[in-house]
Amino acid sequence: EAKLKLFGVQDDLKLSLNAIQVLRERYLLKDQEGNPVETPRQMMERVANAIAQIDASYGEDPEVSYQEFLKTLMALDFLPNSPTLMNAGCPGGQLAACFVLPVEDSLDAIFEALKNMALIHKSGGGTGFSFSRLRPRGDRVSSTGGRASGPVSFMRIFDTATDVVKQGGKRRGANMGILRFNHPDILEFIQAKKKGGEFENFNFSVAITDQEMEAVRKNEKIPLINPRDGRVWREVSATEIFNVICESAWSSGEPGCIFIDEINRKHPLKALGAIEATNPCGEVPLLPFESCNLGSINLAHMVTEGKIDYAKLGETVRVAVHFLDNVIDANYHPLPETERMAKANRKIGLGVMGFADLLVKIGVPYYSQQALKIAEEIMQYIMLQARKTSLELASRRGTFPNLEKSTWYTQNLPLRNATLTSIAPTGSISIIAGCSSGIEPYFALSFRRYVLENTELIEVNPLLEEYLKGLKLSQKDWERILAQGTLQGIEQIPQKVKDLFRTALEIPPEFQVKVQAAFQKYVDNAVSKTINLPQNASLEEVKKVFFLAHETHCKGITVFRQGSRSRQAIYPGLLS
Ligand code: UDP
Repeated sequence: EAKLKLFGVQDDLKLSLNAIQVLRERYLLKDQEGNPVETPRQMMERVANAIAQIDASYGEDPEVSYQEFLKTLMALDFLPNSPTLMNAGCPGGQLAACFVLPVEDSLDAIFEALKNMALIHKSGGGTGFSFSRLRPRGDRVSSTGGRASGPVSFMRIFDTATDVVKQGGKRRGANMGILRFNHPDILEFIQAKKKGGEFENFNFSVAITDQEMEAVRKNEKIPLINPRDGRVWREVSATEIFNVICESAWSSGEPGCIFIDEINRKHPLKALGAIEATNPCGEVPLLPFESCNLGSINLAHMVTEGKIDYAKLGETVRVAVHFLDNVIDANYHPLPETERMAKANRKIGLGVMGFADLLVKIGVPYYSQQALKIAEEIMQYIMLQARKTSLELASRRGTFPNLEKSTWYTQNLPLRNATLTSIAPTGSISIIAGCSSGIEPYFALSFRRYVLENTELIEVNPLLEEYLKGLKLSQKDWERILAQGTLQGIEQIPQKVKDLFRTALEIPPEFQVKVQAAFQKYVDNAVSKTINLPQNASLEEVKKVFFLAHETHCKGITVFRQGSRSRQAIYPGLLS
């Protein structure tokens, strides 16, 4: 009732206030005046129906799938990425979150990429680019006799165009900009976001090879190479460049690194070329014009009587993989090239959210060896079940057309999908599901979040109350917990409970990397994880984290030091 009054939305799924508000603003279909014309349940029906209909084209019965999809969505056991929730069942609905576009070294190709980016953003997708093929600033332009302005200046145009397009108001366009470690303009790139006010629609990542990491460790020189002619531009100290990356990441959270050799070692479609870029948040490395549709299982719902419910998890994986495979066919692509690639490789990215919630529910602290073991166990199980479903789908519907060009073929695995798993940040869908995001620890036990324009969302950990109920805390203690967003300093709370509700800034960064590595072990694509550092973390700490991520076979790394940006999307505690 209150929700109906507040937001004009009838809450027929018993969602949180924040979930209703997010759905109202961005997901529910609206009439011309901007009033919602569907309820949350009707949204789930629209999505389940549109995706289930695909079964008919394979001679299967859509009704059975419709019931399964609807039940799973309404229970919030699994949610697809935002574009699918927003657009499924709508004419021309684009359903995938992630795209990668090539940028070749000619004016024609650069502006072609720019146009394609605009079309993808308008459709609700995010885009990743490698700008490594562009000739450096100051290089020759033979047709005009002039001087090139370099990748960073072109990226500025992509950033501005993103601002202008704004994804039809539902979602701000997100981009990943990648440059190779040995590009002549690397220093300009690393520091481009440092002054702030620019490139706010971009995440920056440096693509670094194993050999370059080795050169950093050994303090060796490396040649910077002009991609236009393959000639050495000049020699630099690898360690010095790496130090500038880490200093910049320490002071502003950017750039991140992607470990491009690790990505290509695990790349199942090597015959189609090497991967140079990832999507905006890093969880999906893709070839040019590839895209990926994501979905996440809510692990908070996979616990029965204090134990992980593997039967329910397995069943949810089966439904989710079937659902995501259907999404590929239900999708309306903004570009013919992306449609061709999506249908040839049929990549999907099934992941998880609510990992921190699951751990609380089974009584295991996030910061513990056991949590690492559980992370591996859960993800391995999901990977195996997902493969099983993909094999079954292939036996009914056929394998993905490029199977014979993939490493799966040599392993004798006739899969329906070239990739199956990926861990997304779940920035919005975890709010809808009311669970912790992705595989992150709790950022804080109470926090303010700025994901909607002009609206502050206040959240208090929904599991906390239950654990503190019996302790008879004073009003003052409660106020203190809510104000600071942690249980620190509250004497009455037993250490065991404090351990269960440890927040990101109370968990050593190295351990957070280990969690990322544990999941990565059983993920086909990549893992989105922010390594949160306290404000007083040192530069050395950042370097250690980067090295550790590389050593433990992560595909990339992003750090965020508290307070290092003038504006954050999320702040701990309820005091400003
Ligand atoms: N993404 C985007 N714009 C946004 C948020 C996300 O384009 O504002 C894309 C981007 O490729 C990102 C992916 O969606 O890597 C998944 O992000 P997330 O899991 O946070 O999306 P959700 O489905 O929760 O909205």
